[in-house]
Amino acid sequence: MTMDPIPVNTPLLGDRERDYLMRCIETGWISSEGPFVQEFENKFSARVNRQHGIAVSSGTAALDCAMAALDLGPGDEVILPSLTIISCASAIVRTGAKPVTVDSLPDVWNMNPEEVAAKITPQTKAILIVHLYGLPADVDPILELAEKHGLAVVEDAAEAIGQTHRGRPCGSFGTLSVFSFYPNKHITTGEGGMIVTDCEDLATKCRSLRNLCFGSGNQRFEHEHLGWNYRMTNMQAALGLAQLESLDEHLKKKRRIGMTYGKALEQTLGLALPISETPYAENLFWVFGVVVENKRFSAATEVTESLATRAVGTRPFFWPIHEQPVFRRMGLFDGVVHPMAEKLARRGFYLPSGLGLTEEQILRAAKELTQIMA
Ligand SMILES: *Cc1c(COP(=O)(O)O)cnc(C)c1O
Repeated sequence: MTMDPIPVNTPLLGDRERDYLMRCIETGWISSEGPFVQEFENKFSARVNRQHGIAVSSGTAALDCAMAALDLGPGDEVILPSLTIISCASAIVRTGAKPVTVDSLPDVWNMNPEEVAAKITPQTKAILIVHLYGLPADVDPILELAEKHGLAVVEDAAEAIGQTHRGRPCGSFGTLSVFSFYPNKHITTGEGGMIVTDCEDLATKCRSLRNLCFGSGNQRFEHEHLGWNYRMTNMQAALGLAQLESLDEHLKKKRRIGMTYGKALEQTLGLALPISETPYAENLFWVFGVVVENKRFSAATEVTESLATRAVGTRPFFWPIHEQPVFRRMGLFDGVVHPMAEKLARRGFYLPSGLGLTEEQILRAAKELTQIMA
């Protein structure tokens, strides 16, 4: 018997997406100069209670702009979780500043605020908060530390579009907050991202950074700073606007997928499941991550390879920043150890979690996993 493979992600695109995209083609507005870009910036930033939105070509680009806008440089330090995507650290390293990593909490997988406090030095300029896999980081203790020490906060809410912390939107907590609209995120533009902020100066800087730091007026081609071409096209913004109108529906669906997996895997042996809520947030299950606790398996790959032969797609958790060969070769993170992040990276993975997933697919993926673990 052959089974249809269950892909790890499938986006949901509908008639509205087609209509808005068609408008780009009919009007000829396809570049970043088109009207959907600003409309998307306005509507998205309003949704997360921010004054300014700067649409860019990816979440990685958003992180680059955010870190560059803070004028970091050699001698500065930025604290971030070790268990996150490389983009968080590369944005810091490219400014010349030093990334200082922190371990994960065992149950929620976000960075440990007590360790953040311990890592603050006179060189610390900023803290990068990342919301991982569907549960927001508990921002309160971190914001308190930032306030006390006069530090900037960059918030990576790529995986937390529409998520809230004590009722306030994720993306509303950073000096600068960033989002990604990659196809596995809660809303997608194919590729894309956004920086949001309430600070007009920082917004102006980010707009300049995404557009090559062109000069103003007659001096257009004279550059005072180095930027990037990180502009978002009108076609991407058209998709983004259509998707934004479906965001609440998408969030409900994600929550439902997560709860269905949770119930189906409740009795499965040797598996740690994500917790469904904390005092500050419900888990929106951006993805349904699990951690292989059974010592019969030396790593998650032994389980995910079996799942692959049963046509169930998976992705491993992120690999810790402090263990990245590229950074080790730069002499960063000598002697740094983060036991929890190292364990999660080796034993964690996520199941198919895309918005296009059917109940039947969820139950089959859960059943296959349960059989493997038995
Ligand atoms: C997806 C993601 C990004 C990067 O976004 P891209 O658009 O793929 O560059 C950044 N941070 C986190 C936490 C992410 O999950």
